Amino acid sequence: MPAIVVVGAQWGDEGKGKTTDILGTSVDYVVKPNGGNNAGHTVVVGGEKYELKLLPAGILSPNVTPVIGNGVVVNLEALFEEIEALESRGADTSKLRISANAHLVAPYHQTLDKVTERFLGKRAIGTTGRGIGPAYMDKIGRLGIRVQDIFDESILRQKIEGSLRQKNELLVKVYNRRAVDVDEIVEYFEPFIERLRPYVAETEQLLNDALDRDEVIVMEGGQATMLDVDHGTYPFVTSSNPTAGGSCVGSGIGPTRINRVVGIVKAYTTRVGAGPFPTELFDDMGEYLQKAGGEFGVNTGRPRRCGWYDAVIARYAARVNGFTDYVLTKLDVLTGIESIPVCVAYEVDGVRQDEMPTSQTEFHHAKPIFEYFEGWAEDITGARTFDDLPVNAQKYVLALEERSGCRMSVLGVGPDREQSIVRHDLLD
Ligand code: IMP
Repeated sequence: MPAIVVVGAQWGDEGKGKTTDILGTSVDYVVKPNGGNNAGHTVVVGGEKYELKLLPAGILSPNVTPVIGNGVVVNLEALFEEIEALESRGADTSKLRISANAHLVAPYHQTLDKVTERFLGKRAIGTTGRGIGPAYMDKIGRLGIRVQDIFDESILRQKIEGSLRQKNELLVKVYNRRAVDVDEIVEYFEPFIERLRPYVAETEQLLNDALDRDEVIVMEGGQATMLDVDHGTYPFVTSSNPTAGGSCVGSGIGPTRINRVVGIVKAYTTRVGAGPFPTELFDDMGEYLQKAGGEFGVNTGRPRRCGWYDAVIARYAARVNGFTDYVLTKLDVLTGIESIPVCVAYEVDGVRQDEMPTSQTEFHHAKPIFEYFEGWAEDITGARTFDDLPVNAQKYVLALEERSGCRMSVLGVGPDREQSIVRHDLLD
């Protein structure tokens, strides 16, 4: 039975949560392999809206075991806030499992995230300010604190001392901030220790055993392809690998066990934070998409930058992730637009480029070359089969499919779990 990886194909907020949630009714495990509480999913179940940041979307499906993988950086304050909020609405979170090898976000990571952004000035990344980059820097720099560390007081203290020796030099001498006291951080973690204990597990073993029993696992990458630290628009990226390969590293499931890699792509494009975005709209149409699509960050409330569908990026994402399927979301948002542009190639310094430019400078200079498709005026939110869609909506989908490097297996026509058109079953 399958292990399925779900990856955002653009700059995030494509609707991965909904996709995982649709699959969630038939899956056994949903794993978050990377990122932290920088993510933000809105999931609508039975008309009820849930906003998730750190918890995997499968948490709302009673039969699913949600897993926070080793590749995640966990902010314990955020974790328990989210758990409490869900439980107060009747959701059961007791099945959640968290890898003992996942890293923890400490308050000084958040301080460093904010001061680093200020320090960068015009070159700021526009991070979520959640301390994600600095926590991953500590992980790679071998100064991180892992989930397992907080169960051994002397280890925890040693690790905090090790990390703060370096951080305090930075905070005081470079950023002109106060030094952080070791005791303060030990005390910060203390109230979480016993609350965390029942959730911690050897998740790598748990997941591989589940695959041995033919159970279904969905790995839901945080962020998206164009925010991947290796394959995205570096340096305007997050500090982990949201692409498909990162799911293997961040969960302990080997690549030979993955059956399907599903890309999630919105019928237009959005981006939060700074960095190049060739199809970005600066006119009324940009504002229209923002309003019609509700394009405001779940996490930070920031308005998302909006633009047209970019097939060059879709093809690139299909390539670097090895997508087997696409889920096209928010098709209904385009209803009522007379003529819909789709970017099929770029013009870079007067030369047409059909694929992703090699250098950052070229990508910054890329201007979209559009093809135009006739829109539709009919309400499509009730469509449940491809034939229910107006002919022009069908043509738009087929045009995207032809240009995006992968078949479009599921189409989203509204926010609810049921508002989907399944052309090819993702679990087949
Ligand atoms: P960080 O992940 O907070 O370090 O932010 C790095 C970049 O990734 C910024 O441009 C953020 O806006 C963006 N980002 C991080 N998480 C998400 C997400 O879940 N959706 C969209 N953008 C994100």
